[in-house]
Amino acid sequence: MTRPPDAPARVSLIRGSITTRLLFILVPLVLLAAAGTAFVAVRSSRAVVQRFALDYGQDLANKQAGEIAAITREKIAFVEGLARQVESMVATGASDRRVVATYIARTALAHPNMVGFWFLAEPDFMGPDQAFRNGDPALGLPESGRFAVYYVPDGPSDVKLGEVRPDFYRDDYYALPAQSRKRQAVPPYLYPVLGRPTWMISYTIPVIVDGRLIGVAGTDLSLEQRARELDARRPLGGSIYMINREGNWTYHPDHALLATKATVGDGPQFQLSPDELDRVLKVQPYEVERVDTAGHRVRRYAVPMTFFQGDNRRLLLLDVPVEGLSAPFAGIGTAIMVAALVSGLLVSLVLVAAVRAIIGVPLARMARAIDTLERDETASMPDTDRQDQIGGIARALVRFRGTLAERDRLRAQVEERTTALERMLAGVGAAKDAIVLFDPDYTVIYANPAAISLLGAPDEAAVVGHRWAALLTPETRGAVEEDQRRQRDGLMSTGYAHWIGESWQSVWGRAMEAYETTLSLRPNGDIVMVLRDVTATRRAAREREELQRQVLQQDKMEAIGRLAGGVAHDFNNLLGAMLGYVEFLLDDLDPNDKAHSYVARISAVGKRAKELVGQILTFARSDKGELQAVSPVAVLEDARGILRSAVPATTEMIFQIAGTVPNVRANPAQLVQVLMNLVLNAHDARRGEGGRILIRLFPGPAPVDVRVREGRWAEHEALPFDKGRPHVVLEVEDEGHGMTMEVMTRLFEPFFTTKGKGRGTGLGMPVVYGIVRAHGGGMTVMSAEGEGALLRILLPIGGPGTVAPLLAAAPIVKVAPRRRLRILVVDDAAEMGDMLLEGLSRRGHEVAICETPAEALEVFEENPHAFDAVVSDQTMPGMTGLALIALLKTRRPDLPCVLYTGYSERSDEKAVLAAGADAFFLKPVVVERLAGKVEALCAAAASGA
Ligand code: ADP
Ligand code: MG
Repeated sequence: MTRPPDAPARVSLIRGSITTRLLFILVPLVLLAAAGTAFVAVRSSRAVVQRFALDYGQDLANKQAGEIAAITREKIAFVEGLARQVESMVATGASDRRVVATYIARTALAHPNMVGFWFLAEPDFMGPDQAFRNGDPALGLPESGRFAVYYVPDGPSDVKLGEVRPDFYRDDYYALPAQSRKRQAVPPYLYPVLGRPTWMISYTIPVIVDGRLIGVAGTDLSLEQRARELDARRPLGGSIYMINREGNWTYHPDHALLATKATVGDGPQFQLSPDELDRVLKVQPYEVERVDTAGHRVRRYAVPMTFFQGDNRRLLLLDVPVEGLSAPFAGIGTAIMVAALVSGLLVSLVLVAAVRAIIGVPLARMARAIDTLERDETASMPDTDRQDQIGGIARALVRFRGTLAERDRLRAQVEERTTALERMLAGVGAAKDAIVLFDPDYTVIYANPAAISLLGAPDEAAVVGHRWAALLTPETRGAVEEDQRRQRDGLMSTGYAHWIGESWQSVWGRAMEAYETTLSLRPNGDIVMVLRDVTATRRAAREREELQRQVLQQDKMEAIGRLAGGVAHDFNNLLGAMLGYVEFLLDDLDPNDKAHSYVARISAVGKRAKELVGQILTFARSDKGELQAVSPVAVLEDARGILRSAVPATTEMIFQIAGTVPNVRANPAQLVQVLMNLVLNAHDARRGEGGRILIRLFPGPAPVDVRVREGRWAEHEALPFDKGRPHVVLEVEDEGHGMTMEVMTRLFEPFFTTKGKGRGTGLGMPVVYGIVRAHGGGMTVMSAEGEGALLRILLPIGGPGTVAPLLAAAPIVKVAPRRRLRILVVDDAAEMGDMLLEGLSRRGHEVAICETPAEALEVFEENPHAFDAVVSDQTMPGMTGLALIALLKTRRPDLPCVLYTGYSERSDEKAVLAAGADAFFLKPVVVERLAGKVEALCAAAASGA
């Protein structure tokens, strides 16, 4: 809105205002128009001037004629008065020659410039006797006595009686009016006035009373005298003439020609052309142009002159030089020019003033108002109430100001929103999630960089404008289009949709295992999609789930293990005691005795029970036992026979052992136990006779099983293993009835069996699990119902080592008692204590039993040398067996002490020996072996002593 500093602050009124410019155009135009008009006027004025000039001449002629007639009528009026006087005197009977004569004399005296006044009476008027009688010439003619009076002014104050011819009644001046009984202007005649012959004309009036002509009154005019009066009349330097109907000049500037006849003919030497003469004789007006004797063009106007009604005897001629005629109009062209220019200038001035007032001033005011507006938006705009265009402009400006303000506001708003939008777009552009804007047909309108890279598209152009489904592989496309259809209603009603889809792939090969889609509907029907690859999250979640499941499983196993272990522990003790007594019975009974065979059966069944308990304890303890570097190949080769013999010969058993398999750290006996369990299960799963069992051993990692890869088999990783660690793979596969997923997941639960009562114990797999876990290995089950099964065990590689002698259990050495030993047995469980008491006593030893360590200590304190050896349980109230032994040894380091523990007590032999015990047994304790050991220890102590 600010003006650039170099722009002129105000448009100069002289240089650039609209008004000035308008005037610069209008004023010359007006002047030009005026000049043009003047030019045309001047040109056309010539004809007008000519016409004017002619009319002017005519007017002049008329004017001269009128003036002269008027003078003449005045003179006639004097006679009129005279005639009326006589008339009234006759009418009233007061007529008297003397009175009339006196009246005429007086009239003549009153008009000294007239030639004379007269009254000539009819013969019988006032009788001759009277005139005669008086003998007065003023009262009657000497001879006839007729009354005829003629007075002639003589100087300004005197009159004289003029001469009246005796036969006057024959002359025109009497005869014409008398006969016509009308007033007459009498043509010039020569008459002696006071003895001097004078060319005269007379104006006469007949005096008639009661239809009787009384006489004629008249006045005379001297042609000569009148000519002198008229000589001064030279209008426009021209000449006037008077000519009567007889063609005689009654006035001519050349007095010599007065009363002469005009000369007639063609050419300048003639006074009248024949045509003129014709008109003159008829007393008709005319106009003619002629060339005078000096060769000048002269215009002649002829107009009739009438002195009274019925008078028509003469024409006035006016001769005017043609130049002279138009002289009065000579300045008219210049006048027109000047007038045009002046009026043009005036109009221009008015125009200037008007334009300034109408346009310039309001515009300037408005310009000022706009300037003010720039600084102050609320300033008021003038002229808005005007009804003309200025008012319109002012109102438009007010509206425009509104528009400007609105525009400024909008611009600010747009800027603000643009900034917000840019920030938002920056956010959208930087977002990790793919954000895509669709039109209602799922055609891409916008895709953020994350979306482009998620699709693997080369650029934005490859995405924008395309249908979303078209950017996906045919398999994905179907699913996505299905999703879009399915979500449509929800999206329309709630404006929002969210779901998680699986296996997605773009045409550019980018794939997602799992993705999360959020759709939101915009008010204009567009759809915003936020797409997030949740593959990793999904995997992590699944792994976490799996881990949780495993932890749960382990907790469960642990719990069950502990429970089972506890039960098995006690049961083991009881069983140990039972078997001990059974052994005593077998010793005591005669082998031929029937009872002997029963007891032998009891012993066999008891041993089987002991095996079971042992299995429970193995699982429960999860003790890896002694681990050593062993060659799994050697272990397998050694176990081959045992495994083979565990299943019927009809079942084919195939060993596939790789050439070189690294050593593992393992307990060989337990490995065999594992193999045995797996093989037995494989065997149990067989359908009908036969079937194959495959046992494989090879260095890891194992390839993905083809059946798993093809989806025919499900896979359950029961014990996860880091495949990155070097390991060997041990597999047992069968072609049996296989497992459902449920069975696969519950496989390792203790006591879980599908084999029905009496057949399955549900302990095989838990034992395998316990052992493998103790070895730090992993385990996977692969199977499908009716499709066989594969158990895979992964064992971490251990260091170099030798093959341990397999199942090299030391044979029970039966040593006959050489001397009677005093043995103190410490056990809180009566069954166990009693069994030991019985067994040891039967070998000839003296046995004492203490039920608590405290009691044992008491007995020992009484006489530390009362016993040769001490046999103690580990778990007892108040004090452990080991602690007791340690105490006893402080007093008698040479005292042989033997400790036995349950499986669940998790003590290993080394620790026990280090703690001071001389020998260590696991329950159930075989009495012979314990006794043998005690005897050996005592012998050694005795020989050492
Ligand atoms: P048991 O053999 O006493 O039933 P196990 O713990 O050894 O107990 O096995 C548990 C269950 O696992 C079996 O009852 C059986 O249903 C299933 N099982 C184990 N191994 C296989 C196998 N190779 N094929 C089919 N089922 C098996
Ligand atoms: Mg089994």
